Amino acid sequence: MLAKYVLVLENRSVCQNRWRKSQFFKKKLVHRCVKCDKELIHKYKAQAEWNMQGFLCSSCHIEMTKEFIARQQEEKRKLEISLHICAVCKKELLLESDRYKPRWQWNMERGITLCKGCYEIKSTEYERTLNYCVICETRLGFIRYNPKPKWNIQGQLCRKCWDKENHERH
Ligand SMILES: [Zn+2]
Ligand SMILES: [Zn+2]
Ligand SMILES: [Zn+2]
Repeated sequence: MLAKYVLVLENRSVCQNRWRKSQFFKKKLVHRCVKCDKELIHKYKAQAEWNMQGFLCSSCHIEMTKEFIARQQEEKRKLEISLHICAVCKKELLLESDRYKPRWQWNMERGITLCKGCYEIKSTEYERTLNYCVICETRLGFIRYNPKPKWNIQGQLCRKCWDKENHERH
């Protein structure tokens, strides 16, 4: 009778040990939210762009998503502002009507914006290179002369200056 009782007790303690062991291993497998350390029932993976390792609970995941979107919008806003600054004088161009796109013939960087003043200066400069000899500044007629590439001159020349350059550089 006594022996039987001891056996039951022993069995129970073996069972308890097993139960404790199983709890221990279970605990190791529990995932916790990397932000608030809450035990996770549903795991949400952090997005690669967030620079985080591990899993999040649903509320932290929602919070992070919101933060990320806000940060993205902020960056977009900053980029837009930088596009709305005159590339030459750096004046802020708040109004749509203040923003001018340079003409492609002016050979300026793509995507930049100019203020009215800088646009007009560039435009006049360009007209000058189109219509005036870059050396003597006389107005060019219908016939104009392109400098040879090795002369490294931007713009066009009158007949006289072209001949002079050609003569001097030989
Ligand atoms: Zn959390
Ligand atoms: Zn400007
Ligand atoms: Zn000339």
